[in-house]
Parts: sequence; structure tokens; C-alpha cells
Amino acid sequence: MLRTEKIMNKDVLYQWATDLFPLCRSITGAGVRETLDYIKNIVPELKIHSMPSGTAVFDWIVPPEWNCFDAYIENSRGERILDFKANNLHVLSYSEPVNAVLEWYQLKDHLHTLPDNPDAIPYNTSYYKKKWGFCMSYNQKMRLSKTDLYRVFINSELKKDGCLNYGEIIIKGATDREILLSTYICHPSLANDNLSGIIVTTAIAKFLLSIKNRHYTYRILYLPETIGAIAYLSRNISNMQNKTDAGFVITCCGDENNYSFIPSRSGNTLSDKIARFVLNDKKYTEYSFLDRGSDERQFCSPRVNLPVASIMRSKYAEYKEYHNSLDNLSFISAQGLFDSYIIYNKCIDVLELNCTPITVNFCEPMLSKYDLYPGSRNIFKDILAYADGKTDLLTMSILFNVSFNDVVSAFNILLTKKLIEVVL
Ligand code: ZN
Repeated sequence: MLRTEKIMNKDVLYQWATDLFPLCRSITGAGVRETLDYIKNIVPELKIHSMPSGTAVFDWIVPPEWNCFDAYIENSRGERILDFKANNLHVLSYSEPVNAVLEWYQLKDHLHTLPDNPDAIPYNTSYYKKKWGFCMSYNQKMRLSKTDLYRVFINSELKKDGCLNYGEIIIKGATDREILLSTYICHPSLANDNLSGIIVTTAIAKFLLSIKNRHYTYRILYLPETIGAIAYLSRNISNMQNKTDAGFVITCCGDENNYSFIPSRSGNTLSDKIARFVLNDKKYTEYSFLDRGSDERQFCSPRVNLPVASIMRSKYAEYKEYHNSLDNLSFISAQGLFDSYIIYNKCIDVLELNCTPITVNFCEPMLSKYDLYPGSRNIFKDILAYADGKTDLLTMSILFNVSFNDVVSAFNILLTKKLIEVVL
């Protein structure tokens, strides 16, 4: 019964990742727009929205739009020792422009490294505090002469009349009850966190658009992390609070390590139950909401309170390649991306088939009248016994220790025999 249609080819997913990897994304700017344009080519239903820099959104203000055109460090012989064009991680994201010749003692405070991961270039940002900086491997920094002079050059802009962009796909279903799928588009050349989330979300959107008879409406979002989620909620919060039945932040889902799961704040929403159910036969670590790190911070915050969880592979902040240049296209794989796509599709299958029934009779119906096996215990009797208008099929499947498919099949027979109704 579970739909396992695999319209996506795993190599196509990896190709999308390869194409998008080099773009210099940040919370605003051309890299975000180029990423959204690329997705729109795959899913024309994507709407690209913008919000002007300076707009107040809850306790925040949309920052100036940042673009970086070129950046490098040259030594006194004119040799380029670091080049933004070779790796966009080399520039502190949101660096203000600079063009100066510095001595080592002046330069070193602007260099970001990872002494514990000495070959990796760190990913660092300074969105809300004006500064400039370069990121390089610790080993490279150690090799630099302390007596040389260095030209530092960053050609960037912080446009006060710029904007923040985000993408939205609304896929209408039979009901206006909604499932939220959200990913973030603000990380530059980093593969697992979070290009993988962009790829898997896009594959799911394409899949959802290819199937008919969807029960749920799907709200699929591509947001700059934190500020984008806050900006989006500031425009859509009531609608989302009224309609959302389940949701997931899709991130860190491109590698082949064990799964990770972050529950919602309450830990017992429909999203949590579904995530645990689909991960049941996989190796996975269940974290706490205390370990949250992405846009569930906004979606699950007390006055927003949406039922949002997150299924990942290697969880952000828990792997040594996290937020550095080792989180590259070799860290993820076509298979890793595809497996996460399948996991989220299973979540969607369960959501689509799940419902909450209520028995229509007082006392047990006389099952033999309906040609249903009247043994001492059978699945029909169990479903009827729990069909109180509050217990959904997924909960029954777990409670009865019977496969979800079997519960759904038996439920459909009871529905055909008019012994049960669905609570809307
Ligand atoms: Zn991150």
C-alpha cells in the first residue's frame, strides 16, 4: 500500500548538488537568487518572494543585502595566497569591503582557522556585526611569514536598498490541512549542511507534483536560515498555525551515516510519531529539542508552536566536516541523497494514508453479518475497539504491533462496509 514510486534518479539528485555547490549563498544576495532560479527551472511552481532590507520582522530587521564579487590576499611578491574564486568559504560571510596593505600583526586577527581540524577552511559569518575577515586552513596560516606585508582585498557590497529572497511552493491537495517542508538556502559551498536539504526538498516537491489525489496541501519553503524563517512567519503565521498538521525541517541529509532525529518541542506531535515510525527499522539517534539548531527554533518557539521535527543523517554540529571545507561533494553521495528522499517520501505516504476513524455503532457490530472474520481477536475488532475519534491509524499500528499497511487495508474494508467513519 505504501507508495514507493521512485520517479527520481539518484544521479540526477547528485548532479543538482554538483551544479549548485559552487554558488556563494548567504542569507541574502545573488547566490540565493541563482539557487532559487535553478530550483525554479526544475519546479516551475516555485514562487520567489522578496522582502526589502530594513523591514522589521518580529524582533529582527532584515539586514542589508550582501554580495561578494572578488576577494584575495596577496603577499609582497604579488603572489595570491588565498582566493575567494577558488573557494567561497575563504571570505567571512557578510564581510564589508577592504583594500589595504597590512603587517602580520594587523592581519592575523582577521584570519579564521580551525586549529583542531588543521586542513579545513572554516565557514564563518558576521551577519549583524560589521567586520571583514578571511577563513583559511590552520596549516596554511602557520606557513605564512610573520615579517611579510599582505594586501587584503574584498570587493563586496552591503546594499541598504537590497532585499532578502525566499522560495515557496504551495501544492494544493483535497483539504487545506497542511504539511510544512522547510529547508534553508543560506550556506555557501557546503554539501551536507545544507545543500543536501535543498536537493532532497526539491526532489520531494517534484515527486508531490507528479502524484494525483493528494489529501494534504504542501507548503514547501526555501528560506535563509533564522532571519528567513522569521521573515516568512511574520507574513504567514496565522495561516500556518490554523492549518499545519505536521512539518519537517529538511537538512543534513546527503551522507550515508546513521540517521538522526530531532523531535519537536513537545516531542509527541504527529511529525514526531511519523518520524519515529519510519526510522523504526533504521539505525538512528534520537536527540532532544535541546539539541535544536535550525529553523525548528522558530517554528516550534512557544508563540508559533508548529508541529515541526527534523530527520537528518549526520546532524549539524555533530560531525567533524560540519561548517568547514570538508563538508564537500565527497562527503555526500547520490545514494545518501536518494535514501533521505525515500525516508521523507515514506513520511508523506504515512501522512497521506493516516486518518482518525470513529465507529458508527454502539457496542461491537455483529461482524459475521458483514463477512468479517469473527474470531476472538482480529484486526477489525481491534480497529473498531479503538476507533474513538481520537486515535489515528498510525497509533493503532504501533499499539497493535501490526504493520501500518495492514491497518490501512483493514480500515478501508471497515469503511466500505460503513462500520466506521473518518473524523475530519
Ligand atoms: Zn549550518
